[in-house]
Amino acid sequence: MNSPSASSEIGTIATGNSDSVKYTGRFAPSPTGPLHFGSLLAAVASYLRARSQDGRWLVRVEDIDPPRETPGAIEVILAALEKYGFEWDGEIAYQSQSRAAHDEAVQFLLREGNAYHCGCSRRDLADVPRGPLGIIYPGYCRDGCDAEDTAIRVRTTDTPVRFVDYLQGPQVQSLQRESGDFVIRRRDGLIAYHLAVAVDDNLQGVTEIVRGSDLLDSTPRQIWLQRLLGYSQPAYAHIPVAVNVKGQKLSKSHGAGAISLEDTSATLAAALGVLGQRPPKELGSLPVADIWAWSRENWNMEVLRGQSAIKVGHIPQARAETL
Ligand SMILES: [Zn+2]
Repeated sequence: MNSPSASSEIGTIATGNSDSVKYTGRFAPSPTGPLHFGSLLAAVASYLRARSQDGRWLVRVEDIDPPRETPGAIEVILAALEKYGFEWDGEIAYQSQSRAAHDEAVQFLLREGNAYHCGCSRRDLADVPRGPLGIIYPGYCRDGCDAEDTAIRVRTTDTPVRFVDYLQGPQVQSLQRESGDFVIRRRDGLIAYHLAVAVDDNLQGVTEIVRGSDLLDSTPRQIWLQRLLGYSQPAYAHIPVAVNVKGQKLSKSHGAGAISLEDTSATLAAALGVLGQRPPKELGSLPVADIWAWSRENWNMEVLRGQSAIKVGHIPQARAETL
């Protein structure tokens, strides 16, 4: 098969036994603003999971949507990760630098007949049904379209996409019914999120994705692309989403701005507490290196099983907006 998955060999490390692949996890922030507490939870969980598996932990900046990005955010996020004492393996990856691989995957899907050009404008789609994932594309352009400016959509079927999430249990989605054929390259030429994630996780040899459960319902679309592209499927563990005491998802408007770069120990200890790790009280006043040493010894992700949201009380905030 002439598949772009040939590159899946990159990043897999033989560990003496030819069937074994080294555990590879990743943290993939978008440069839309400074690191906030919800992102810190995903970073901490994916980092400790990788370290507890003796694996690699990669950082990848998801910078494929320039209109949504905040200038300077990348530097601020990376500086925060350093301040908190995260140690990533290898160089930081930038999604914008794998554009050639994204394009190759799109062309492969087109060649195989699994993707097609769609000339529908926003107005054409104004009245189509919507679901929790957004519009449910009714397939207007499935048999061809002669528009000049087109998006590219991947074909979906009504075969349910199933996977078992390590923390959230069995999941199922019928893509044709719940999203319809979805966009992999936008009309403006930018690569859509799901395609970029599927390609880059494969390129980097990621074996397990630990991230917030706000992305749980994106996973079947990414698995669908992995299958069509001939990639192997990573494992998934979606950690609960942090909510405030009123049950609202943490966001800038609900008291979750940038995390503090001064009170790193207290913030890191608070993150471990929210992740159900029961750190001893005095941990919050020790240097971050000592907190990590304790965490690596005591990490237990299984306590998060079956929880989709976790309540967060007071957390130290940056004294002034960093961005
Ligand atoms: Zn269309």
